[in-house]
Amino acid sequence: MELLDGKSCSQEIRREIANTVAQLKAEGKRAPHLAAILVGDDGASETYVANKVKDCEEVGFDSTVIRLPAATSEDELLAEVDKLNNNSNIDGFIVQLPLPDHIDEHRVTLAIDPYKDVDGFCPANVGNMCLGLPTFVSATPNGIMELLARYKIDTTGKHCVVLGRSNIVGTPMAILMSRNTNPGNCTVTLAHSRTQNLTELCASADILVAAIGRPNFVTADMVKPGAIVIDVGITRVEDSSRASGFKLVGDVDFEAVADKSAYITPVPGGVGPMTRASLMQNTLKAYQR
Ligand code: NAP
Repeated sequence: MELLDGKSCSQEIRREIANTVAQLKAEGKRAPHLAAILVGDDGASETYVANKVKDCEEVGFDSTVIRLPAATSEDELLAEVDKLNNNSNIDGFIVQLPLPDHIDEHRVTLAIDPYKDVDGFCPANVGNMCLGLPTFVSATPNGIMELLARYKIDTTGKHCVVLGRSNIVGTPMAILMSRNTNPGNCTVTLAHSRTQNLTELCASADILVAAIGRPNFVTADMVKPGAIVIDVGITRVEDSSRASGFKLVGDVDFEAVADKSAYITPVPGGVGPMTRASLMQNTLKAYQR
């Protein structure tokens, strides 16, 4: 078994980006600039945005956080999106999800200029991804593709089972793995909560991507010997032995599955850091555009 080490791989990516930014600055150019809109005071969202600011600092990007109260109306948020769309100093921006219930996420996502949509959530970018056209691929699938590429894993002709069909992870992952690219060129099965014979299906996968948010769901009997296992899941599980009071657990029962697999991502330290690095890659791409 070989660990797909997202932590070290993401550090390598951040170093590469930092070198590019240092070069730009040496040429007298401005740094790439990422903005984030944060509505309300959701603790997890605060942490995600703080991490994005930290990542920007590390690679030499400028960053701006626009904090809006939870009571912000949809129209007020759309006005902020419009300002960022028209601010030529901002290369890319994200609207941190989830939004308060009274705001229609879909309307907000639609309002973002596709050239600044570094999360890759807006329909134009999803459509471009499906057609294999230049786009921003959403951070998690992009990070997984990058991890497979950097480990030079041959995916051609393999059977890839993707567990979970969310718009931000499972569905784009299935599309990317099925395209005529490298990594890619897989025969893909996209499974979800209504899929039958899940154990047999997963056990037939050469590449298994688990993105369902159910801790330790994938057990050893669901994994083919020699499979490549990508664990996207992150669930906080109570753990009184830790100062934080919780630990992060993936969708894969790592202890049981690791020895059976050829490659496996750990949680934490696998897909998570690759997701963060992907946002930096997308921001640099937006700047270069
Ligand atoms: P989501 O929107 O909640 O979607 C979950 C998907 O899993 C749905 O398609 C659901 O099927 C399917 N599912 C749920 N239970 C299932 C079961 N028992 N058997 C088969 N399929 C089942 O989740 P998400 O946003 O994609 O996130 C998935 C996990 O990845 C979460 O733990 C999340 O925290 C994590 N995540 C990690 C990163 C990272 O950077 N590492 C990034 C994003 C998300 P239905 O469609 O039929 O309901």
